[in-house]
Amino acid sequence: MTDNNELTFSQSVDRMIERALDVMEIEQGQANALKSCDSVIQVRFPVKIKGTIEVFTGWRAVHSTHRLPAKGGIRFAPFADQDEVEALAALMTYKCAIVDVPFGGSKGALLIDPSKYDREEMQLITRRFTLELVRKGFLSPSTNVPAPDIGTGQREMSWIADTYKHLHPEDVNYLACVTGKPVHLGGIRGRTEATGRGVQYTIQEFFRHADGLKQAGLSSSLADQTIIVQGLGNVGYHATKFLSEEDGARIICVIERDGYVHNEKGINIESLYQYIVEHKTIKGYPDATFSEDGKKALEMECDILIPAALEAQITVDNAARVKAKLIVEAANGPVTYQADQILNKMGVAILPDAYVNAGGVTVSYFEWIRNLSHIRFGRMQRRNEELRNEQYIAMLEEITGTRISDLAKEKLSHGANEIDIVRSGLEDTMRHAFQEIREIWLRDDRITDYRTAAYVLAVEKISKSYIDIGVY
Ligand code: NAD
Repeated sequence: MTDNNELTFSQSVDRMIERALDVMEIEQGQANALKSCDSVIQVRFPVKIKGTIEVFTGWRAVHSTHRLPAKGGIRFAPFADQDEVEALAALMTYKCAIVDVPFGGSKGALLIDPSKYDREEMQLITRRFTLELVRKGFLSPSTNVPAPDIGTGQREMSWIADTYKHLHPEDVNYLACVTGKPVHLGGIRGRTEATGRGVQYTIQEFFRHADGLKQAGLSSSLADQTIIVQGLGNVGYHATKFLSEEDGARIICVIERDGYVHNEKGINIESLYQYIVEHKTIKGYPDATFSEDGKKALEMECDILIPAALEAQITVDNAARVKAKLIVEAANGPVTYQADQILNKMGVAILPDAYVNAGGVTVSYFEWIRNLSHIRFGRMQRRNEELRNEQYIAMLEEITGTRISDLAKEKLSHGANEIDIVRSGLEDTMRHAFQEIREIWLRDDRITDYRTAAYVLAVEKISKSYIDIGVY
């Protein structure tokens, strides 16, 4: 329990999965095996910073290895602990199962405030942390593959890949030891935007089903919706940029660590993002009203609330005052177990983290395959596809006697390149998973929320593989 009588993060995740296990009447031993974290290491290592030795603490947890490698991000944050890392590793297991990504679940964290160190120091620290993980068997292309999370991005992933390469020069697949790398260093197009893009596909799919919309009290057009987002980092920025620019939704409020900005007419996300890059704060942004109490903005009137920052943001303390009709959990664990119960009773629809933010691991899976196959998606087929399409167009013109415009010709002949393939694979994954979750939501009267439905889906798939390998 935490100070305000909330469960810890991992207890909260366990309780949520237990709701699904209860419905499924899973035997206690199996349930325990499914929930427990396989292994976790804590490392402490010294790094000399500006002439002084500093000791850093980090963790890597492996929740499950029913599929290998185990997969999950590494966060660099001043507030990490082992309970959080284990909870996030468990979420990764369920997440991978929900979206049919054949990985186990893992997660890592380094206790650090990255804003206190310069680039060279961060590189030293990241490389030293990588060394610890590799040496202890917690990082390799076949067993455990990290990715970006809070406070880490392409830069850190490059350092991790390079450190692993120097430790294992004989490993021809060394690039697959980490995902989320820059494209020129073995990354894949579309990985940076993937989690936010997945959030967009999730919401688009939700808006294709009239029964779910009616139950949530939402109108049928995504373009009519008002959205509040918490966190304009990688996930929050991409999700709201795409939802506003491509789907016409109105982002009326953005909550960041120093407060929130509000404009009922809608905020231009790109312009706000550029403002943050330049000024390192949202304060003073000219086209919206600023206020310091960010937490309060979670309770503002809106259609869709997208928490995309940290865990435990909607708790017993504020859940009853939330006015959004739909909560889309782009962050991991933003709603605690107790808050989830309150919101369910209020009839607020919640699309759960283990499904919503799975776009990141899905495209990481594509990147991992790209690294193992040593070839960019589309490289062998694209020109061939274009030639065939050009032939079809010529035939069509000949048969109909009508000239097709140059613009239409260009669109019709276009062969899929890597970003097209990644986006369509991601969209297909997110849509298919939502339909599977919906089927469970519709088939069993005892399941009234999407989270329990998603976890039933995850447990069904994981149990099946445990049965197949003889664990159950
Ligand atoms: P990030 O570090 O890029 O962004 C986090 C943002 O939240 C930053 O802009 C930060 O300033 C803001 N923030 C921090 N504290 C805040 C507070 N108290 N109130 C409001 N805003 C605050 O991280 P990210 O990669 O976007 O991850 C965000 C969430 O999404 C995390 O829960 C992470 O685990 C989850 N997630 C990320 C990915 C990914 O691919 N990056 C994948 C799956 C899940």
